[in-house]
Amino acid sequence: MFSKHVTKDISAYCHGELSPEAARQFAEHIIACAKCRGEFEEIKQGIKFAEQLPQLEAPESLWKGIEARLGEERRVDVSRRAWRPRLVAVAVALVVVAGLGLWRLWEKTSQNHLSNQFAQQWWQVQRLDGAPRIGSQQIGTTGRLGIGEWLETDGSSRAQIAVSSIGTVDIDENTRVRLLETAPTEHRLELERGKMSAMIWAPPRLFFVDTPSAVAADLGCAYTLEVDDHGAGRLRVTSGWVALQLKERESIVPAGAACETRPGVGPGTPYFEDASKSFQSALKEIDLQQNSAAGKQALNALLNEARWRDTLTLWHLLARVPHDDRALVYDKLAGFVAPPPDVTREGVLQLNNFMLARWKSVLEAHWNPIGIGDKKGLLKKSLVPLKKPYVPER
Ligand SMILES: [Zn+2]
Repeated sequence: MFSKHVTKDISAYCHGELSPEAARQFAEHIIACAKCRGEFEEIKQGIKFAEQLPQLEAPESLWKGIEARLGEERRVDVSRRAWRPRLVAVAVALVVVAGLGLWRLWEKTSQNHLSNQFAQQWWQVQRLDGAPRIGSQQIGTTGRLGIGEWLETDGSSRAQIAVSSIGTVDIDENTRVRLLETAPTEHRLELERGKMSAMIWAPPRLFFVDTPSAVAADLGCAYTLEVDDHGAGRLRVTSGWVALQLKERESIVPAGAACETRPGVGPGTPYFEDASKSFQSALKEIDLQQNSAAGKQALNALLNEARWRDTLTLWHLLARVPHDDRALVYDKLAGFVAPPPDVTREGVLQLNNFMLARWKSVLEAHWNPIGIGDKKGLLKKSLVPLKKPYVPER
């Protein structure tokens, strides 16, 4: 049931200990529940951090120090005065010992986990058409894509990748992808060129695709991503949400929306594909030439055409238009959806990060009624793509 939180399963999920069915239910809950999602993010970051720590032996002097203190403790009379500080010393020593013990236990169990399903340093690839290659080898019906290896299709071949146990990626013709990382806390693919469609049933930000002009971070969704020979890309989201990032620049793209990316610039401004043609062409103009008269003219055209739903584009434009134009965007946006009480016009015009995020959290519910959200009636729809039958890897 939705009301049952899954925080107690987070560690098990991150270590691949849940059954496929339980893992899928876990992911569905996380996508829909902001509370569990927050905790999941924290624990995932902790595990990622721990995975990066080097293994160190405790220095000999530490053990000697602990032994010496314990020995001292036995010899000295327990007078009333000395009692407390000594007890503290013992307690500290015990905490240190317990900490080291837990750390070793963690090391041991995490190594065990690594020998489970996540030790698998490759993804299963299935041929859909023609003769896809992994490296220089043509694959048969199936193949294995190891870390660092390229999967390439020509004009007449297609393939499907099983992304660990969290989803599938279909690789279209004339496409080149490489597996960069597969770990419980992060799966990463590089799309050098061509087109791929991803269907991911995992909590947000576990599956990433690097392209020459942005990184696509899955927020629980289905999408297609295309990269041309110049490294420019185009993302179309069919379910859930995707974040496109390049350094500080981020675009949030919900189902029904698209976003272009350009090398050196990063993600453009997202827009709903049912926006009017003139809205879309004005946006293209704005993204290309912001500080020009043409850009200003395009902004006016865009604001005239904007619908309630296009607040997606307007919110992103706040931080992207020149300062002088920001008030125009603000007024249009506020006309559709008033900012929450703790968000001021002045703050937004100064691009106060907190205020921008606050306003966005209100707007999000309007952008994608089938996306992330705790609104009950809407939840069912958001789960449709996640109900895809699970096919275990062999
Ligand atoms: Zn929950």
